[in-house]
Amino acid sequence: MNIKEIQDSLKNCPCGRKHETNILAVEIGRGLINKTAEILSTNGFPKNILVVADKNTLSAADGILDILADGGYKHTLKLYDNLRVAHMSDVNTLMELSANVDGILAVGSGSICDICRLAAARAGKDFAIFATAPSMDGFASDSAPIINGNFKISYPACSPKVVIGDTDILAAAPVELKAAGFGDMIAKYIAIVDWKISTMTTGEYYCENVANLTIEALKKIVSMVDSVTKNDPETAGAIMEALVLTGLGMSFTHNTRPASGAEHVISHFWEIKKLEKGELSDYHGKKVGIATLLTAKTYHMLTESQVDIGEENLDWEEIYRAYGENFIEDVKKVNNPTVTTKTSPEIIRERWGDICKLIKTELPSYEDMLKLLKRAKAATKISEIDVSYDLCLQALKYHAYMRHRMTLMRLIPMIKKDFDFDAVIREVM
Ligand SMILES: [Zn+2]
Ligand SMILES: [Zn+2]
Repeated sequence: MNIKEIQDSLKNCPCGRKHETNILAVEIGRGLINKTAEILSTNGFPKNILVVADKNTLSAADGILDILADGGYKHTLKLYDNLRVAHMSDVNTLMELSANVDGILAVGSGSICDICRLAAARAGKDFAIFATAPSMDGFASDSAPIINGNFKISYPACSPKVVIGDTDILAAAPVELKAAGFGDMIAKYIAIVDWKISTMTTGEYYCENVANLTIEALKKIVSMVDSVTKNDPETAGAIMEALVLTGLGMSFTHNTRPASGAEHVISHFWEIKKLEKGELSDYHGKKVGIATLLTAKTYHMLTESQVDIGEENLDWEEIYRAYGENFIEDVKKVNNPTVTTKTSPEIIRERWGDICKLIKTELPSYEDMLKLLKRAKAATKISEIDVSYDLCLQALKYHAYMRHRMTLMRLIPMIKKDFDFDAVIREVM
């Protein structure tokens, strides 16, 4: 993947922002595990490093420690048992462990990359990733979703200098993880329409060229839907490229707009509410794929129905009750002032026709999304991710208040107060 070429193609972008990344190299190919030390070295990655993995990811990348040692890399290993949640306490641990090294190499995907990304940024260390599964799109991203206390927040972090994906290893990843990667990608349909709706209603910054990077990657993955879960290095490589490309989009705009919309927040809501009870959530992309179905169904139903646009008149006590005392302060913080103060019923009324047209033309129907997820062997029902009807209803009604971020979901109280979420959930149960 030619990072420089992509960066050059966005030079003097009409959006007015500079799209730069500190990623030096993304190497994706067969047997690259044997070249890990060489690739890191070529890109000036320091020789004294902290390697972070869990037992599953280290066994997927079998031999990598010897390969690093043979290539002149001195390493300290932090090996987790099975890291499923990215917690701030882990970030702090890694910062301490990295005191005497110059770089951090994450061997894994998801949570491992997220804690390393933030620890490296905060400790001022170089950061690189050896990916073990094409399960999510955050590889190139410069923000890290981390659980702090009980709340999940996307923290500004840093992009890796180097991303290495050995397609033999990526292809051999469990079917469930590969299907999760597809779920994380199909979410981009929502991400892009939510971003555009925010621009229409609040004037939020938008970049057509970066959005197009995401759309290009999405089209590519959708075109491979039937082979997503096959153990085929060529397909795994193409999927990995698309996943990296959307993460790159996030690092170009320094926010998560190009890759995440309401569906990601819904998934985060499930996660924090389950974690509060000591329950682990399912894979990120698996949840996000199902949240995408729920959001697509909601957006189409909403824009095809009679609406009554007005002030939102929220019942904050009801919202706080839904979050519970553990989260009230965080919710207050992101809603002071609310993101809706950036818009008005007049603006929404004026743009409603455009919003409906956008959903109709750019967001595939619930039925089409469902077909795609099934073909990719991804989960399609809330029961498959152990989310109850009640938790799902809570998420749909209240998730939007855990972020200061405009989405069409967030506007529902101003558009159609009595929206029938029950009808949406019944489809996805
Ligand atoms: Zn731009
Ligand atoms: Zn995601």
